[in-house]
Amino acid sequence: MAEKKVILAEPRGFCAGVRRAISMVEQALDHYGPPVYVRKEIVHNHHVIRALEKRGAVFTSTEEEVPEGAVCVFSAHGVSPAVRGNAAARELQVLDATCPLVSKVHQEARRFARDGRTILLIGHSDHEEVEGTYGEAPASTIVVESVQDAEELELPPDASPVYLTQTTLSLDETADIVGTLRDRFPALAGPASEDICYASQNRQNAIKKIAAHAELVLVLGSANSSNSVRMVEVARSAGADAHLLPNVEDLDPAWLTGVTSVGVSAGASTPEFLVDRLVDRLVEHGYDGLEIEHAATENITFTFRPAWHTEEANTE
Ligand code: SF4
Repeated sequence: MAEKKVILAEPRGFCAGVRRAISMVEQALDHYGPPVYVRKEIVHNHHVIRALEKRGAVFTSTEEEVPEGAVCVFSAHGVSPAVRGNAAARELQVLDATCPLVSKVHQEARRFARDGRTILLIGHSDHEEVEGTYGEAPASTIVVESVQDAEELELPPDASPVYLTQTTLSLDETADIVGTLRDRFPALAGPASEDICYASQNRQNAIKKIAAHAELVLVLGSANSSNSVRMVEVARSAGADAHLLPNVEDLDPAWLTGVTSVGVSAGASTPEFLVDRLVDRLVEHGYDGLEIEHAATENITFTFRPAWHTEEANTE
């Protein structure tokens, strides 16, 4: 009988933007003491949210719910200028945890809008990142969610279209959408460099490699985590049975029937302790072989130097 094994994706789990965002909330809690308000989920993982809530973070849906003058962290997904304006009007002490790779897309949106271009923003309209990027130039931006949207899009003859994308999309699906847009609008321009971030690309590439030789792929991540959901889709497109697991307890033993190789990965906002727990659970089911599927080496870090460091230095 073939050895039952786990194939672990490398890289997996936290990306540089998520590490920085969580660290900003933790540092704010250390410096100011609770409560520290956070607009929206700092990253899309409920284990991370619960842990920060225990330390005194208070998560709100909008900046309007934050008491005037309070400390408020903006999430890694970015915010629109309108949100910044509201926060300023309420005199909030803002710490901006927007991932630098999301900020780059915002800059591109502002530049393209200034140049009078029509921005075709490829992404999911109900995702916070798209809401933020769209808000940079609402009069110049059209959200394109699918190949069908691209096929049905109508633009005035004198439009000068350019596309941007959400950072956590599926590479293959986005290529299909861009291809359709290019067929329809040959003058379509794109960003200077890829908007889909390194972390999404690397995690999808690792999943693809695993799905080539694992019958089942399990991705740990919350249902509202875009990059985690895309990883499941990528595994399924590559021919594997695949499931998203918000919690290790969501593993259904029935999925393991007749399966000898189980691929395991975690979305960019999923803490590593969940991977450890899932592997332990699989060992209990007889999957005691372990292989690593290495797709890329990541050594990117995004730093954050809080303003209070400067203040403290000035008062010493
Ligand atoms: Fe930044 Fe990509 Fe991580 Fe999102 S998934 S926080 S864009 S590095």
